[in-house]
Amino acid sequence: MVPLHSGLSGLTIAEGMDMKSLSSFATGGKAEYYAEPKTIHDAVSLLEIAYAKNLPVTIIGAGTHILVSDSGIPGMVISTAGMKGMTIRGRLLVASPGESMENVINQAIDHNLIGLEKIAGIPGTIAGALSVNASANGATLSDSFFYADYLTMDGLLHRRPGFHDYIRRQRSIFRDGEMIISVALLLEPSRASAEARVRKEEYVEKMYIPPARRFSGQIFRDSETMSASDALKEAGLAGKSGLRAEFSAYQPNTILTWPGCTSDEIFTLIRHAEKTVKDKLGIALERSLTILGSFRDQG
Ligand SMILES: Cc1cc2nc3c(=O)[nH]c(=O)nc-3n(C[C@H](O)[C@H](O)[C@H](O)COP(=O)(O)OP(=O)(O)OC[C@H]3O[C@@H](n4cnc5c(N)ncnc54)[C@H](O)[C@@H]3O)c2cc1C
Repeated sequence: MVPLHSGLSGLTIAEGMDMKSLSSFATGGKAEYYAEPKTIHDAVSLLEIAYAKNLPVTIIGAGTHILVSDSGIPGMVISTAGMKGMTIRGRLLVASPGESMENVINQAIDHNLIGLEKIAGIPGTIAGALSVNASANGATLSDSFFYADYLTMDGLLHRRPGFHDYIRRQRSIFRDGEMIISVALLLEPSRASAEARVRKEEYVEKMYIPPARRFSGQIFRDSETMSASDALKEAGLAGKSGLRAEFSAYQPNTILTWPGCTSDEIFTLIRHAEKTVKDKLGIALERSLTILGSFRDQG
């Protein structure tokens, strides 16, 4: 391992960070190096260190939509979950990348701004949600997306506007190695904030998570011809799999895991689904879940 000294006050670069505690699946190996910047300045410094040491960089948020290889992640993993802050002016809400979706929606409603209630209950950060274009109940974050600021690996700052034809359902408009550092949303002013809060809580309750089992978000994106959920059901993949991971019978495009499950088992299930759906229905499933590190039979 390359010895690293951040030289930054208050910022630690951990070596051999166990990613189990940082991913919703609670599986996977170690990150060679791991850091959680709190400011843009910290983030730029980390990119400089990684560049100087020739380390690959992986960016994550709260880890609710990643599958980490059991053999770990080489290079530096940077989580933006610790970068907090939000400003609201008129209809414009600007959030730092680590703000939780929950806090963004609550703050918006507190300021009489509505439009995000349908995606309430999605775990994770605003940057993670923008990166995958999180969606629920027929709404997506892109419905309110105005612009985002992001850093490239050379430390340069860029702004990407949210033109409607630019961001599509569950598609990322960001490339690997682009670190979102703020997200601006344009929301609807409304006096009916009490009703919006009730609506939001109803959507949160709908986000059913079975007790005592790990539960993922949507593993695959919907294709033009069929929803991923219908494809998995039609291919006979929903329910028991013989592994400690299975596609939910209730919401087939999500994976439930049993204690002791490994990332390899989850990945085996994903590859099995891709092959089966291709063979039976002729549909090439596209992953929404981010796969980090290497697996056998990568696909
Ligand atoms: C129980 C459960 C229910 C879920 N329900 C839904 C749902 O209904 N709808 C839905 O869309 N999703 C759902 N998800 C998936 C997940 O919660 C969302 O995709 C969430 O928005 C991911 O945010 P995160 O901060 O955890 O991102 P992570 O999981 O950490 O990362 C996800 C992706 O975002 C990228 N990313 C994160 N931060 C940045 C950044 N600062 N800059 C650039 N890229 C970044 C990562 O590189 C990765 O590709 C669910 C997950 C769980 C566990």
